[in-house]
Amino acid sequence: MNNRIVVANQKGGVAKTTTAVNLASSLGQFGKKILLIDLDPQANATSGIGVDKSKVSKSIYDVLIGEGDIEAIVIDTPSPNVRLAPANLALVGAEIELVHAPRREFRLADSINRNASINQYEFIIIDTPPSLGLLTVNAFTAAGSVLIPMQCEYYALEGLAQLYQTVQLVRQKSNPALHIEGLVFSMVDMRANLTVQVMNEVKNILKDKVYESIIPRNVRLAEAPSFGKPIAAYDRHSKGAEAYENLAKEFLKRHSQTLSPSRERTGEAPGEGQAAETTPSPAVVAAEPLLPVGGDGERSSG
Ligand code: ATP
Ligand code: MG
Repeated sequence: MNNRIVVANQKGGVAKTTTAVNLASSLGQFGKKILLIDLDPQANATSGIGVDKSKVSKSIYDVLIGEGDIEAIVIDTPSPNVRLAPANLALVGAEIELVHAPRREFRLADSINRNASINQYEFIIIDTPPSLGLLTVNAFTAAGSVLIPMQCEYYALEGLAQLYQTVQLVRQKSNPALHIEGLVFSMVDMRANLTVQVMNEVKNILKDKVYESIIPRNVRLAEAPSFGKPIAAYDRHSKGAEAYENLAKEFLKRHSQTLSPSRERTGEAPGEGQAAETTPSPAVVAAEPLLPVGGDGERSSG
């Protein structure tokens, strides 16, 4: 499951979708076969990768609620090597409909595990809505790790603590293998006083979980979605394109073991010695502390 990554942060507008779309597209440019799953009713990842969401007839809604085959909804995108399980407006009601559904946290995981064809993808990247509701919990239950885009803002650490708490709950209830993939600073403006302060605080707590690649605030990144293009297709010489390419390189380096021939098969629990570079040992996973609200505490595990 180490090749299934959820991009999550319950805070809105922190570049989850921008990161999911551009990481997927950059990995595709590097020749990796990618499945991008859009779990957000806003369907921004769907349109951002170049698919007209108003023309999507079957979406991830049909998989979550209708128990349809995920393979049956996957479509090609204009991005090389990137296929998409799209979202559409139907997904708006899914969270409420899921409340009384059997195995409500496992709907996405079950659909992926039923499908051997999912093995063709080297990475599955899941974009989530800005909440920690059932859609995001479905993503957490289906995934191996969580990639957190974060803006350097005053309340960012507080949000991180809530996110960690949800990850801990999911570990206890539906997916013990889930771990934190890493954190990437997004929309960074080094001129803002708070930026370095927040960065240092986060690095003190999350240490090497923090990606070295930083995504700067870049107007070309903000423009690209309105053209339905990832940044590499919109302006590949922009700072934004360079940043996401670097992020993809660092991601691949961290996942070098995930891509090894012994890569675990979809649906199997991670075996010993197969964990990705960034996967903490079971002891570390168990001890991975909740982040202190307010961000002024220390890691309890040392
Ligand atoms: P939501 O919580 O609503 O799903 P999100 O976390 O997915 O939002 P995005 O939609 O990716 O966030 O980004 C929010 C806005 O910021 C978008 O308009 C996007 O184009 C813009 N944006 C994202 N990253 C950058 C960047 N590095 N520089 C400038 N603008 C950016
Ligand atoms: Mg989004």
